[in-house]
Amino acid sequence: MADRYRAVLLFGAPGVGKGTQGGVLGAVPGFCHVSTGDLFRALDPESELGREFKHYSSQGLLVPDEFTVKLWSGSMASWADAGRFDPARDVLVLDGFPRNVTQAEMIRDRVDVLAVVHLKAKDRDAMIARLKNRAIEQGRHDDAKEDVIVNRWKVYEQETSPVLECYDGSLVHEVDAMGTPAEVLQRVLGVVVPAVG
Ligand code: ADP
Repeated sequence: MADRYRAVLLFGAPGVGKGTQGGVLGAVPGFCHVSTGDLFRALDPESELGREFKHYSSQGLLVPDEFTVKLWSGSMASWADAGRFDPARDVLVLDGFPRNVTQAEMIRDRVDVLAVVHLKAKDRDAMIARLKNRAIEQGRHDDAKEDVIVNRWKVYEQETSPVLECYDGSLVHEVDAMGTPAEVLQRVLGVVVPAVG
């Protein structure tokens, strides 16, 4: 399907390590890491879109779907134009997208999902500690406050986890997200390498 982007989805709760794994995988030739969170954070914070992002993310809420899908779609087109991504050759590593069932439906005809990597961590407190550390290291306003973190988890459980139901069970792989980044990477590669062929 040349008109659809080939992709693997990195799926999991806030703080589970999607961005870390996506970054490493995206450095491998043939893969291209796309984090919608990063696309939003790259917006000029004074622009209308930048302000809209801040409005939602500072409450732990999702940005509206139209805006999110448009930003993703426009970014893919401009990355392809700039040679940063070759749709004919590269596999997208989608991190944090789609994040609800509506987004999954909106991109269904645009993306050929080869695998869904569901990163799972049983230790919720460890995830919350990771988010707090990241807030300090990276100055992320959305992870700095306990109530915003709690809200992000609520949104994940209510809106994001149903996304898994949108994909054939044979595509969904549970991966233990506890351990060092290298250990988790080994598990992720164990799923992704056979899936992309
Ligand atoms: P994390 O990796 O910790 O889950 P992200 O960097 O992916 O966080 O996202 C930060 C914020 O950006 C989210 O809380 C949300 O407000 C917004 N966001 C990111 N991706 C999406 C998306 N696909 N749809 C709507 N909002 C999004």
